[in-house]
Amino acid sequence: MEKREQLYEGKAKKVYATSDPDKVIVSYKDDATALDGLKKGTVAGKGAINNRMTNFLMRLLEKNGVPTHFVEELNDRETVVKKVSIVPLEVIIRNVSAGSFAKRYGVEEGIVFDEPTFEFSYKNDDLHDPLINDTHALALKLATKEELATIRAMALKVNEVLKAYFLTLGVRLIDFKLEFGRLSDGTLVLADEISPDTCRFWDAKTGEKLDKDRFRRDMGGVEEAYKEMMSRVFGK
Ligand code: UDP
Repeated sequence: MEKREQLYEGKAKKVYATSDPDKVIVSYKDDATALDGLKKGTVAGKGAINNRMTNFLMRLLEKNGVPTHFVEELNDRETVVKKVSIVPLEVIIRNVSAGSFAKRYGVEEGIVFDEPTFEFSYKNDDLHDPLINDTHALALKLATKEELATIRAMALKVNEVLKAYFLTLGVRLIDFKLEFGRLSDGTLVLADEISPDTCRFWDAKTGEKLDKDRFRRDMGGVEEAYKEMMSRVFGK
């Protein structure tokens, strides 16, 4: 598929038009940002790892009945995906307390929940992605009631599939963020990425963090953690 003009550049990816109006090419960068864009850096090899891991997981989810935007991996960094309009909600599922949940409610990290939690953030950089509930999302017409129900069901299914899969690799899926998009006919599909940038992964034996928290918290070993997740998924 031919890559045409750049449509968009985000913090970690670029998006290009193609000869097919219903498809775009996503190109993953090594750039990393955190703390609402205040912290910037690069993680060598991250783009290729996130691209390949996302595509692997999107295929796994498709096999398990979750529709996604994935079409075809072109090379280490670039993938053809269906063109969607992104629903401006970040969908966050948590199995264990960490990050902003622990901070917001004044609890330690590592509390295992009986049931996964489900929350939305409003994707809006100017407002710093505030927490938002269903009724607010409806009031703001960010999605319909039916879409919110579909998003919730799909996100919980993603959690079940991914939690079980990562456990087979000796990795606990602590929490993660998903984004959904609408195809031109309105069908909702899982979009964006699923990677150590968007998930918290803790080694099941040692508890070692194998995700972007190493970058956010200046823990060192960022590249190594991404590579470790890559080798768990694809083998050495
Ligand atoms: N997350 C993300 N993008 C964001 C915010 C969060 O991918 O803009 C992911 C994050 O990697 C973690 C989960 O969503 O796996 C929950 O993040 P949290 O709300 O705890 O926020 P954080 O502590 O990362 O600010």
